[in-house]
Amino acid sequence: MSFDYDLFVIGAGSGGVRAARIAATHGARVAVAEEYRVGGTCVIRGCVPKKLMVYASRFADDFADAGGFGWTVGETSFDWPRFVAAKDREIARLEGLYGANLERSKVEILRTRATVEGEHRVRLGDGRRVSAAHVLIATGGRPVREGGFPGAEHCITSEELFDLKRLPKRLTVVGGAYIALEFASIFAGLGSEVTVLYRGEEILRGFDMEVRRHLHAELEGRGPTIVTGDVFTAVEKTTGGLVGTTRGGRRIEADEIVLAIGRRPNTAGLGLETVGLDLAANGAVPVEGVFATRLPWLHAVGDVTDRVALTPVAIREGHAFADTVFGGRAVAVSHDLVPTAVFTTPEVGTVGLGEEDLQAQGIGYDVYRSTFRPMRATLAGRGPRTLMKILVEAANDRVVGVHIVGADAAEMIQLVAVAMRMGATKADFDATMALHPSAAEELVTMRTPSGAWRPEG
Ligand code: FAD
Ligand code: NDP
Repeated sequence: MSFDYDLFVIGAGSGGVRAARIAATHGARVAVAEEYRVGGTCVIRGCVPKKLMVYASRFADDFADAGGFGWTVGETSFDWPRFVAAKDREIARLEGLYGANLERSKVEILRTRATVEGEHRVRLGDGRRVSAAHVLIATGGRPVREGGFPGAEHCITSEELFDLKRLPKRLTVVGGAYIALEFASIFAGLGSEVTVLYRGEEILRGFDMEVRRHLHAELEGRGPTIVTGDVFTAVEKTTGGLVGTTRGGRRIEADEIVLAIGRRPNTAGLGLETVGLDLAANGAVPVEGVFATRLPWLHAVGDVTDRVALTPVAIREGHAFADTVFGGRAVAVSHDLVPTAVFTTPEVGTVGLGEEDLQAQGIGYDVYRSTFRPMRATLAGRGPRTLMKILVEAANDRVVGVHIVGADAAEMIQLVAVAMRMGATKADFDATMALHPSAAEELVTMRTPSGAWRPEG
């Protein structure tokens, strides 16, 4: 059978772009369809603009600290439209680079929506039909907009937050995970009055409990008010903005309310039913191994598979797909020991297991813990306390979890992940010379366990 393409990729985000480019360098004839902007969620409305906002939000802390170091800082002010324009220029530059790299690799970019219309067949937004030996679904995810209360349609999501016309004076964020907390922290730093409304007992479910509590306390010290165990029952639009009422009897006024209540795989209307592919209840494409669906010509990588929704994971999966299918070399991807950071201020960096995970798995462990005020805080006279925590498997001295809340946690945890992948033991950490003065040196100088847990019996 002859096809128009060897590979047709639906979605030019982190996973799709990498898969298309690598497949083309292996000699495949490749097209990629993108219905919005090349680069996908991470580049256009996720990691990258978010991190630029994080930088913008931290200048307030720098100005506050500067006085302690002898500086006199004049009156400061933040110009939201000026920031948005600068951020938009950078995103446009990156979008251009992604497109240029694809074209240089001879990947055809089709700036349109694409859907599956049968075996090996794809329909484009303009009605054209094309065929491909392999089709890769890399359509990512989209924010959940159904808040489950009347008036949820007045709320926005992370997608609208990047381009607000005005900096909101009062912002409420619903949710207690990555997106909710990162934006709460950003807008608090930019000067908004921020409330986080979270349904659970403690923010950041799934992380080590001590990390969750430490972050909660430090976040509140700097800005957002965090309300736990409560949800909106209604939101109304008034002349002065929005007013939400909660199950717990609260009345919360805001200029903007952001729903950060999770993301869903982007498969609605994608036509996967035309080829008999059953989706998971939340719309995810079920895959085995790195990318294989049960149809030999159809594959999926990234957020649409609902495994680890992080950019480096989507990229690694897309690359492995291209090497395996077009490069003649089967490449595996491990979803273990994926380092992750929550870019709040202070930020969280984590790799491996938390105490609750270890207990659930019946693994005995020792805890090494350090909490301290970083050196910068001494003269600044303010600043969050840092928490560092190393969890060591009792049976073999292996480091099985490292958790940091504090400045530069993301930068540190990336390198800790290398050591952990290599199977580092606590003795290896201890044998490593400290780098002084740094915060990271605490990771190799904790000698006495501050706690332990063993399974019963
Ligand atoms: P995406 O990057 O979402 O790409 C999918 C693309 O497919 C999109 O461009 C979409 O327009 C397109 N598309 C969908 N359907 C069709 C169709 N039918 N036809 C044509 N095109 C289609 N991860 C991190 O690792 N670090 C972070 O700091 C981080 N911050 C984030 C902050 C926010 C606010 C958000 C929302 C996410 C963040 N993420 C972060 C997660 C990260 O963005 C995703 O894990 C990553 O983008 C997934 O890549 P992907 O290729 O699976 O999908
Ligand atoms: P998550 O799925 O991680 O969290 C959703 C949050 O919303 C949870 O706190 C959840 O509560 C709460 N929630 C869910 N449904 C409701 C509801 N109906 N009403 C009230 N609250 C609700 O989603 P995010 O949107 O934060 O992020 C999606 C993913 O994107 C992340 O998991 C991460 O993989 C990725 N990401 C990564 C970032 C990074 O690497 N720094 C940054 C941003 C996103 P509960 O805990 O009770 O379930």
